[in-house]
Amino acid sequence: MGYFGCHLSAAGGSAAMVETAVSIGANTFAFFTRNPRGSRAKKEDPADAKRAVELLREHNFGPLVAHGAYTMNLCTAEAEDRAFASAVLEDDLRRMAALPGNFYNFHPGSHVGQGTEAGIEYISAALKNALRHGYPVTVLLETMAGKGSEVGGTFEELKAILDAVGSDSLGVCLDTCHVYDGGYDLVNDLGGVLAEFDRIIGLDRLGALHLNDSKNPFASHKDRHELLGQGSLGLPTFEAIVNHPALRDKPMILETPNELPGYQREIALLRTMQPL
Ligand code: FE
Ligand code: FE
Ligand code: ZN
Repeated sequence: MGYFGCHLSAAGGSAAMVETAVSIGANTFAFFTRNPRGSRAKKEDPADAKRAVELLREHNFGPLVAHGAYTMNLCTAEAEDRAFASAVLEDDLRRMAALPGNFYNFHPGSHVGQGTEAGIEYISAALKNALRHGYPVTVLLETMAGKGSEVGGTFEELKAILDAVGSDSLGVCLDTCHVYDGGYDLVNDLGGVLAEFDRIIGLDRLGALHLNDSKNPFASHKDRHELLGQGSLGLPTFEAIVNHPALRDKPMILETPNELPGYQREIALLRTMQPL
C-alpha cells in the first residue's frame, strides 16, 4: 500500500495531525515546522510528540515530510539574513528529532542576482552546518520550477548541492508541478525524466514526492498548483507516477488547492489508481 497524504495545519500539535490524517485516509502528511511565511516556531511539546510517534506506529504510517518555511532563504544577499536562515534550518532539524526518522524538505533558495554558483555555495555551507549534529532526520531539497532566481530548477543544480554537502542524510523531494513547469516532461516521457533523474542525481536519493497538477503549460517556470486532473499534467500522468516501480513506495504529498474534504477525495482517488 502506498503512502499518500497532504499538507496539514500544525496548530493543534503533532498527535492531532496524525489523527486528522487518519480521518481522511492518509498514511503520511506534511506540515510546516514554523509559520510558512514567517519564522516563528511553535513551543515544543515532548508529550505531544511522544503521543504522535505512538500513533504513527499504531497506524503504520510511512515517513512524514515536514516542510521548511518559504521565507528561509539560505542564499539571500545579506550575510546577516543568510546567518538567520541558517540558524532557522539548524533549529528545524533539531526540532525534527522529536519525531525521529522522518523527512524535512525545503526550497533550496533564491540567489537574488548573485548567480547560481554562489547560491549553491551558500546553501551547501548552511546544510553542512545543520547536518553536522547528526539529528535523526533526512533533509530533502525540493525540485523547483526555476522561477526568477530560484536555485534547484534543474537536476544538475540539486546534484551540485548534494555533492558539495556530501551527506547521506540529504536527498531530493520531487514536486510534479515544479518539475513539469521546469521543463521536464512528466506527461509524455515519465520514463525519460526518471532516467535523467537517475543518471544525474540517482533515484536512490529520491526521498518523497509532492503530487500537484499545474495551472500552467509545460516549461512555463511558473509554479501554480492545481487540483489533480484539472491542470496541464492530467490524471493519466498521476496514475503512471503512483504505479511506477521507482516511485510507488515513496511518501506522496498533495499540495493541491484544497481543504480537508478535497484532500480526502484526492487521496481516495490516488488509492483507486494504485490498486495493489
Ligand atoms: Fe515546497
Ligand atoms: Fe512542493
Ligand atoms: Zn510549488
